[in-house]
Amino acid sequence: MSSLEQQVQAGLRQVNERISTAAQAVSRDQAAITLLAVSKTFGADAVLAAAHAGQRHFGENYVQEAVDKILALRALAATGEISAAGLIWHFIGPIQSNKTRQIAEHFDWVHSVDRPKLAHRLSEQRPPKLPALNLLLQVNISGEATKSGLPPEAVTALARSVIALPRVRLRGLMAIPEPETDPARQRAPLARMRALFDRLRSELGPDAADLDTLSMGMSADLEAAIAEGSTLVRVGTAIFGARAPKPLET
Ligand SMILES: *Cc1c(COP(=O)(O)O)cnc(C)c1O
Repeated sequence: MSSLEQQVQAGLRQVNERISTAAQAVSRDQAAITLLAVSKTFGADAVLAAAHAGQRHFGENYVQEAVDKILALRALAATGEISAAGLIWHFIGPIQSNKTRQIAEHFDWVHSVDRPKLAHRLSEQRPPKLPALNLLLQVNISGEATKSGLPPEAVTALARSVIALPRVRLRGLMAIPEPETDPARQRAPLARMRALFDRLRSELGPDAADLDTLSMGMSADLEAAIAEGSTLVRVGTAIFGARAPKPLET
């Protein structure tokens, strides 16, 4: 086994253990929590190493880098190098409207929808031969001026308009709270997200049937996020190691 494979497997093992311990601590079923391996800035070889260790969900932030990687992995799947059952790709970065077509054509999930126009374009541009694109609305839960994401009070209106679109499926909410190291301070915005998600589902009533996903928690706060009801944690550094500076594209 290469040293990259060893490092990625050890990272995945540690993160899965953290998820398991955090779930047990609050009597949650670990199976209800999905690990999204955030592979941005790492190569197709790192994704392949994780896939060999059983990881299925991958998250990417930069469109061109991601599409190159997705095509490389698909080519490997075609040769039988990895299971053709396939990897599930999540777009988690800020979206420029001129990139929606590539996102709609290559990804399975998008976590960072925060404007009606983006949802409309993704629905229009989703190829008819693919299943509906899974969408999450990104909420600016810490109220930071520079962050992307909707203000919490705008979530219900955007959710209703997304549910009416034909080629996308609204699955829930996503947030990137302001970084905090103190666990008690980490939990406050995560708890607000949980409350917002519960309120949205009750407001939507029967239209909320597909809303099963609360995407929150990263390398530094996944325990707090699981305690507050996260169903999907997005983890990069704790699996793949520290990232080099991001590429210039996007
Ligand atoms: C990079 C990134 C992550 C992963 O962050 P780590 O701290 O490396 O775990 C999670 N979510 C989003 C939206 C990201 O951009």
